[in-house]
Amino acid sequence: MLELRPSCEHCDKLLPPNSSEARICSYECTFCLHASCLPSIGFIGKSRSILN
Ligand SMILES: [Zn+2]
Repeated sequence: MLELRPSCEHCDKLLPPNSSEARICSYECTFCLHASCLPSIGFIGKSRSILN
């Protein structure tokens, strides 16, 4: 089961469970949709809420 974190690991932007900006990659990294936060690989591209 993926560990859900409450904020972006890159910029510490708060990502509440219902946030449409929350994303998670295949390495269980939680991040927002800011350009500098998006990982180049392993991007699932689905809202975190879908994974719940
Ligand atoms: Zn971020």
